[in-house]
Amino acid sequence: MDEKGGLLEVAKLHDACGVVGISFNETGNNVAKFIYYALYALQHRGQEAAGISVHDGKSIRTHRGMGLVAEVFKDAQIDILRGSVGIGHVRYPTTGRSCIENTQPFLVKYKDGAIAVAHNGNLVNSSQLREQLEQAGDIFYSSSDTEVIAHLFVKELLKYDLQEAVRALMRKIVGSYSLVFLWEDTVLALRDPLGIKPLCIGEVDNGFMVASESAAVDTLNGRLIRDVRPGELVVIKKGEMKTYQLARMPRPAHCVFEYIYFARPDSILDGRLIYDVRVNIGAHLAEEHPADADTVTPIPDSGITLAVGYHQRSQISYRECLMKNRYIGRTFIMPDQSMRETAVRLKMNTIRPNIEGHKLVLVDDSIVRGTTSRRIVDMVRRAGAKEVHVRIGSPPILAPCYLGIDMASREELIAAYKTVAGVEAVINADSLGYVSHKGLVEAVGIPKENLCMGCLTGIYPVEIPGEKCMAAQTKLSEYLNADATKD
Ligand code: SF4
Repeated sequence: MDEKGGLLEVAKLHDACGVVGISFNETGNNVAKFIYYALYALQHRGQEAAGISVHDGKSIRTHRGMGLVAEVFKDAQIDILRGSVGIGHVRYPTTGRSCIENTQPFLVKYKDGAIAVAHNGNLVNSSQLREQLEQAGDIFYSSSDTEVIAHLFVKELLKYDLQEAVRALMRKIVGSYSLVFLWEDTVLALRDPLGIKPLCIGEVDNGFMVASESAAVDTLNGRLIRDVRPGELVVIKKGEMKTYQLARMPRPAHCVFEYIYFARPDSILDGRLIYDVRVNIGAHLAEEHPADADTVTPIPDSGITLAVGYHQRSQISYRECLMKNRYIGRTFIMPDQSMRETAVRLKMNTIRPNIEGHKLVLVDDSIVRGTTSRRIVDMVRRAGAKEVHVRIGSPPILAPCYLGIDMASREELIAAYKTVAGVEAVINADSLGYVSHKGLVEAVGIPKENLCMGCLTGIYPVEIPGEKCMAAQTKLSEYLNADATKD
């Protein structure tokens, strides 16, 4: 992975968020503990903050904090959150500053009760909506678009029944959203009409759950039922589940980067095991960009499964050459510039005997700015690599993501202004090969018209001022007026 510019930062594409909701059919269950474990399974989707809301039979209680799940929650906090129904969130900031006010779930109280909400995704029209709400007298405590969603939803709930309120909400908000609400003692889950961000339904002992990824269902020893369909509302109350298809678009637009990088390899998205998809991508990469090399090696962790696929198809030996330190927390004493090498090696070190004298194929998922790729290529060269052939499991990232991934601005994206040969020179590789759009789409196994590939093509599934939009998706509002159908 490439980086945001920090000396030690290795992650380059920052994940959006992870959400979970659980409802048990028996009272007395400590749902917070189950949500805690599910959030632990989703920690890769956001490390900045975490939070849990539960309904204790009378009201909603929430605990939120900055940091990893294990830093935010200790036994005492979990014990206080008593109840059999609740929701949780892990956050990486997309809209809104990094501060406690922007942590989720958000709680909004209104005259008929209270609602807590957790969100994965990003609205592209949140500033206009916020302005309208502020002009009408609403007061906001955060800069997050999720609070805008909570306010809008409460207003609709005061006017309509649940289904109509959700439909009215969907007509107003534009962008990507996989949402979980705790509405008194009921869990609601909603996936945007294009299904941009993932959300799935699982069955657990004594109830049901929804989560961003099926790995969270596995962690609770549950059974994955299926993905929440684009435009579908899931209602879980006292361990019973009902689903309502509230919007039907002609095509979905699933985020292709979930398959390349964001989701865990052990998760199943839209019926596809992410591990298998990544092995396929690696195999396509080997076919499209063979290399005269003797060792295939991943940049850990995100390049591992791609490198396995490259190795299987090319028959070039697979060997680990880089070791990542997984125990660097959010806060530690940053080495000064004179300790630059130490700083880099704290995060990633070479396994020198596996590198010395070898011609390497170095496999990674993407290149954003190019600086980390350069640093790693230089590192393996210093460890004695004879040649370094870089292979990338995504096509070049040409454009920013407006739909939930904190990637970079267009000016910062190296592929937006350099050719492949230009990037190859900047990262100091002997050769550079990206998987093609066609190869990627074949490896994922979903037609390209059903994928969001906005950051790879500059054409987005929703209208964004100044950007191109996929023609089939421009009439979003018309489709949102489709009849509600109960499954
Ligand atoms: S623009 Fe890229 S990262 Fe953003 S949702 Fe679309 S495919 Fe995913």
